[in-house]
Amino acid sequence: MLGPPGAGKGTQARRLAERYGFCSVSTGDVLRDAARKQTELGKQAQKRMEAGELVPDTVVDQIVRDRLLDEDARRGVILDGYPRTLGQAHFFERIAECDRIDVLAIGLMVDDEILVARLSARWNCPQCGKIFNASSNPACASGSCGACGAVLVQRKDDRPDVVRERLRVYHRATQPLIDFYRERGKFREVAGEGEPDRIFDSIVKVLNEEEQKRSASL
Ligand code: AMP
Repeated sequence: MLGPPGAGKGTQARRLAERYGFCSVSTGDVLRDAARKQTELGKQAQKRMEAGELVPDTVVDQIVRDRLLDEDARRGVILDGYPRTLGQAHFFERIAECDRIDVLAIGLMVDDEILVARLSARWNCPQCGKIFNASSNPACASGSCGACGAVLVQRKDDRPDVVRERLRVYHRATQPLIDFYRERGKFREVAGEGEPDRIFDSIVKVLNEEEQKRSASL
């Protein structure tokens, strides 16, 4: 899943993983978990994450490479937030070639101003990972998770100043991946504004079309 922060990659990745029986891997979640546990990796990553900067390619490349070796990754993986730089995309391309992984990049496109508003209103469940939005659901601000009851938290990097830095980083480092995948015939764009259910249906439609194209070319 490609797209700016707040485009809805996490929400859609989890739903897609459920629908297709794939596993969903979020490099951001892995890094946040490591930061919470204060592992060596977590300590290294924490400062950069809180400043809205990217963690070095070698660190995330390793996380993804290790995760892809897990048994549950065999059936398929939805990558949420990786690759995020051209260096990572080249690294992942080598893994994909080696392991014969069929790759499709789905770009979720949303306007910057909408993203700033969305992220500033975002609350997360630290237990089950569910994401809530205070503009559509005002009760969730510092309330509890409707799914599992845990107290909701706001990510430090969802503060407006950090969000703007994350958007700058996205435009500079990650947006070029759209051309990278487009040139390889592996990019499909989906509008990321509107109801999550409608966006999900659009992604599934794109995946069905790709599936048909691929079966026709066999
Ligand atoms: P996310 O939850 O995907 O918004 O990621 C949160 C933060 O984790 C990012 O702002 C980066 O600091 C770090 N991060 C996550 N994925 C990557 C990646 N592929 N490359 C570099 N840094 C990453």
